[in-house]
Amino acid sequence: MLAPDRNRDRTNVGTAAQACPERSRRGCPAEQSSAASPPNIQRRAFLAMSAATIAGLVFWQWRKPAVLGAAPAVDSEPKEVTVVLFSDAGQRLKQVRIAKIVKTVAEWRKQLSAGVFDITRNADTEIAFSGKYWNLHDSGIYRCICCDNALFDSATKFESGTGWPSFWAPIAAENVTEIRDTTFGMVRTAVACTECDAHLGHVFDDGPEPTLLRYCMNSASLRFVART
Ligand SMILES: [Zn+2]
Repeated sequence: MLAPDRNRDRTNVGTAAQACPERSRRGCPAEQSSAASPPNIQRRAFLAMSAATIAGLVFWQWRKPAVLGAAPAVDSEPKEVTVVLFSDAGQRLKQVRIAKIVKTVAEWRKQLSAGVFDITRNADTEIAFSGKYWNLHDSGIYRCICCDNALFDSATKFESGTGWPSFWAPIAAENVTEIRDTTFGMVRTAVACTECDAHLGHVFDDGPEPTLLRYCMNSASLRFVART
């Protein structure tokens, strides 16, 4: 339910902060006119320019949050994330640093069905008891439907009675990302795939031992791989 905004390009902030004062000094008309003007005019011009410069900086500082807030996410370079690789048998292989998967809306729409797109890319929620995994208790692992990142192991799946597949832990903490979600007048914690930002579901603190957590997932966000 929450569109994460984690790709804000901070490089532009530093560039803007350095450029403004430099530009003010170079363009100072008081310096250019000092040879030809009488001293009192020079002084007035200098003071006026100083005030204008300060006002400009204050205005820039005042505007800065709005400008940054409105800035679109810019991926100037691939962002890397840490995930743990697993075999289809559920064996932990190794922790790796890999490039985050970033695709356009058109690319995701081409890859996914409309229902899966709505859930994984627009944080929709499937109707309870409608998904294909809420009542599945076979042994295997659950991968991300969008990027194949390993997310959950059936060893942590439990019957929650909610109509959504429920787990008491992810297969590796690195492989999922938790995000504060305040949509629909509630404060919840949304869970996303670390590798591709697919929305998976939410996590609640009313789960069973040993974690007391309930990862309430959408079947549509998952791809089950039976343990062989
Ligand atoms: Zn993914």
